[in-house]
Amino acid sequence: MNFSLNEDQQAFAELASNFASKSMAPFADEWDKTAHFPVEMFKEAGELGFLGLYTNEEVGGMGLSRLDSSIIFEKLAYGDTSAAAFMTIHNMVAWMIGEFAKPEVAEAWIPDMMTGDKLGSYCLTEPNAGSDAGSLTTKAVKSDDGKHYLLTGQKMFISGAGATDVLVVMARTGEDGAKGISAFVVDAKAEGITYGKNEHKMGWKNQPTAAVHFKDVKVPAKNLLGEEGQGFTFAMKGLDGGRINIATCAVGTAQAALERAVQYVQERSQFGRTLDKFQNVQFKLADMLTELTAARQMVRLAAYHLDTGSPDASSYCAMAKRLATDLSFKVANEALQLHGGYGYLQEYPLERHVRDLRVHQILEGTNEVMRLIVSRKMMDMDTLKRMQ
Ligand SMILES: Cc1cc2nc3c(=O)[nH]c(=O)nc-3n(C[C@H](O)[C@H](O)[C@H](O)COP(=O)(O)OP(=O)(O)OC[C@H]3O[C@@H](n4cnc5c(N)ncnc54)[C@H](O)[C@@H]3O)c2cc1C
Repeated sequence: MNFSLNEDQQAFAELASNFASKSMAPFADEWDKTAHFPVEMFKEAGELGFLGLYTNEEVGGMGLSRLDSSIIFEKLAYGDTSAAAFMTIHNMVAWMIGEFAKPEVAEAWIPDMMTGDKLGSYCLTEPNAGSDAGSLTTKAVKSDDGKHYLLTGQKMFISGAGATDVLVVMARTGEDGAKGISAFVVDAKAEGITYGKNEHKMGWKNQPTAAVHFKDVKVPAKNLLGEEGQGFTFAMKGLDGGRINIATCAVGTAQAALERAVQYVQERSQFGRTLDKFQNVQFKLADMLTELTAARQMVRLAAYHLDTGSPDASSYCAMAKRLATDLSFKVANEALQLHGGYGYLQEYPLERHVRDLRVHQILEGTNEVMRLIVSRKMMDMDTLKRMQ
């Protein structure tokens, strides 16, 4: 068992770190305040391969493992949580298209997605189907000649919606429940698609989030991913990786918050000495580092299980997402507390870190849903024993 990064991983981490400190961190505050979606930065990121980290090499992606990808995403999130998180969603969409679309559909979208000329959104959630995504009602009805589907319904909370070019949409083609769901690659500018307002959010301000309405949208039959009825499985496979990504972005942000706190307590004096001289402060920082380290290792363990095709990969991804997003939020919030009133000011990045991290406990499955996934599987004693 070796917990060190290998030479390639160290090089990836350094590349991502340099990119984050040059092209992301200096603008993070401004992008947050002006709600600027940094498409120009995404194109730069595309040149380094960051938009298709684990997309198949055969279709033009980097073909990296989830573990290598998580190391890169962590460094990007250290520079800007929200922009990095959007890149992870785009990566998830590109991976789904590369993995499950017909070759001609993948060829039509992937090259531009790798360069950032085209961006992707993932459309699962609906107004009445959030945690219970298997109950979604957006419908795709096949035409009599079998050449296309007509898509009608509404999606809610879609990251990037209105500013992206391609949507992977989960829609019902059959029976009630998860088995009646199919997934489609849909041109975001297709006739019949309209977008809701850009939602006013607590964090993740530099990326739009909006509802997407579909009214008799004509989707070519070849744009179906895999076969009818496989859509929910594909959506969940996408989310296994997505959860590692959301978790690793939380860890990268918490690392930034912890570093700032360590620096701050050595500069700020009260009661005649710098804050780092108080044992309560020292102990708090020690716990923050301990918890952050545990979170990071849990994420890497989950990535390892996904990379090796482990039967327990979904459980590990859910455990990692729950643990890492909860602990990272706690670390960032405590880093804010250590800044006293200054932590609450927008002049310091702590309040942005806390605002940005909050949604990581909610999206790509809430942390309660992560517990549902874990608890269901662990009731089987063989699974429980295997996971020790
Ligand atoms: C900023 C943002 C970006 C997003 N981006 C996307 C995107 O790009 N694509 C997309 O498809 N979706 C996206 N989402 C949607 C997100 O995944 C959902 O909000 C999330 O899955 C929860 O669904 P819901 O909001 O409908 O909450 P609900 O499902 O209504 O849940 C409400 C509360 O009840 C709890 N709960 C629900 N069921 C159970 C249960 N069985 N046991 C215990 N507790 C339960 C939940 O944990 C939660 O606390 C985004 C959301 C946000 C806020």
